[in-house]
Amino acid sequence: MYTLGIDIGSTTSKCVLLKDGSEIIAKSLRIGGLGTKGPDSSVNDIWESEEVKKAGITKKDLDRAIVTGYGRRNYEGGDGEVSELTCHALGARFVFDGLRTVIDIGGQDAKIIRLSEDGRMTNFVMNDKCAAGTGRFLDVMANILTVDVDDFTKIAEQSTDASPISSTCTVFAESEVISQLANGAKMPDLIKGICSSVASRVAGLARRVGVQEVCCMSGGVAKNGAVRKALEEELKVNIAFDPLAQHFGAIGAALWAYNEHMRKSKSASK
Ligand code: ADP
Repeated sequence: MYTLGIDIGSTTSKCVLLKDGSEIIAKSLRIGGLGTKGPDSSVNDIWESEEVKKAGITKKDLDRAIVTGYGRRNYEGGDGEVSELTCHALGARFVFDGLRTVIDIGGQDAKIIRLSEDGRMTNFVMNDKCAAGTGRFLDVMANILTVDVDDFTKIAEQSTDASPISSTCTVFAESEVISQLANGAKMPDLIKGICSSVASRVAGLARRVGVQEVCCMSGGVAKNGAVRKALEEELKVNIAFDPLAQHFGAIGAALWAYNEHMRKSKSASK
């Protein structure tokens, strides 16, 4: 049985094709969320992928597709939609056994999801009002510094003395970074300071619901090692990372599609 998870975010569109609810056959990621070609291109990438061609799978073999993410309600290419909170929790638990906390930082918001021992969502907290503490803050700063956000981890590692960012507002922080740069602040120190600023905003949010191990990050900012490390220091917990972190929402959607399809097939055979 094949199910597809489509995660339409604010900045990227991700897909995962799952076999029998247990094996990832292919995944894709395109820049561009709702209102761009991102979602359709990401879905097409799955069907055009080497893995899918090699396995001899075609669109006709697809049993169910579920859409999640910020743009889920306005995308018509699926059989249904499910919330990002549910999908991130499901996808992260697919990778990490005994998971109790998910820290999801995407392009436009941040969420902390608490799970019970058996994986049910028990609480969550979310920031979708302010760019500080989200990937947007990092993207804005990367733009000012003309550095690729993908390089933040390795540049921040060279820092000897992080330059703290005191402004809590992205617009003011932008001016602060520009003046620090003009005053001769070193790039690694500035980038480490920027990443620590995001971590400290998210840690403040996380403390409202509490953080328990096993704890992991999901979303694209999970790939930023400097944010992850600063969060570990702030919250005094280990934060697990998997290279699939940006795809956890899409994995969760594909798992939801699998569970739904199984339920429907069982009730049809009764
Ligand atoms: P959304 O689902 O809202 O579109 P994502 O979960 O895809 O967001 O995360 C996008 C964010 O991830 C970007 O704003 C960027 O800051 C960050 N990001 C993506 N890839 C990387 C990377 N390789 N290294 C560091 N940060 C990254």
